[in-house]
Amino acid sequence: MRKKIVAGNWKMNKNLAETNTLLSELTTKLKASSEVEIIVAPTFTNLYSATEVLKSSGITVAAQNMHEAENGAYTGEISADMLKSIGVETVILGHSERRAYFGETDQLLANKVNTALQHEMTIIFCFGEELQDRKSDNHFSIVEQQLKNGLFHITKANWKNVILAYEPVWAIGTGETASPEQAQEMHAFIRKTIANTYDQETADEVSILYGGSVKPNNAQEIFAKTDVDGGLIGGASLDAENFSAIVNAI
Ligand code: PGA
Repeated sequence: MRKKIVAGNWKMNKNLAETNTLLSELTTKLKASSEVEIIVAPTFTNLYSATEVLKSSGITVAAQNMHEAENGAYTGEISADMLKSIGVETVILGHSERRAYFGETDQLLANKVNTALQHEMTIIFCFGEELQDRKSDNHFSIVEQQLKNGLFHITKANWKNVILAYEPVWAIGTGETASPEQAQEMHAFIRKTIANTYDQETADEVSILYGGSVKPNNAQEIFAKTDVDGGLIGGASLDAENFSAIVNAI
């Protein structure tokens, strides 16, 4: 059985006091369950306090990014070891905002994937096509390339540390969601691509999250699709009521 997962990507939102408020609301509303794994990704400065607040809550903490090097002269950057040392075991890599605004390439992401795996971290690997790719009917080949170039160098054994997040760029923060059918179609394609490259077992076991304008009013129909194993939530994860409703939609 694949894990059902709902992850909140808070992006560059919430200072320390706001983070603590949202976390305490979430711990009141959401009870640890074996049905769904809940992950939140506050900003770097609040990760340590988040791990402290969430201890024994059943909610885990992820970083939104990290550097590929072990350490050294990389002003302003954060390493895998730093994250691990404060109890952060999960990292989001390849988010479309990192790719678009910070020039993260498939090759760079492949390096970050390797570093995260060396540190035995769990990776939420994000990818997805832009609007022009979908309009020109290239969305399947773009997604396949992103996976092949950034991720498919890993071994079969590494997949236990990987969660996939398909996030069509045109649906992120735009209020426009992929239809449940569009999400299912792409998730099935992703699973087939993994089965062809690795094997059916690997494809069947990996959780594939959908991301892009998931809200309480559309989560249920998206999560109901066979190959959608949960969501990576941006805007709606900043409010305890909305995020809890989305978790409960699983
Ligand atoms: P959104 O963001 O839910 O605000 O569209 C999703 C994401 O970027 O992960």
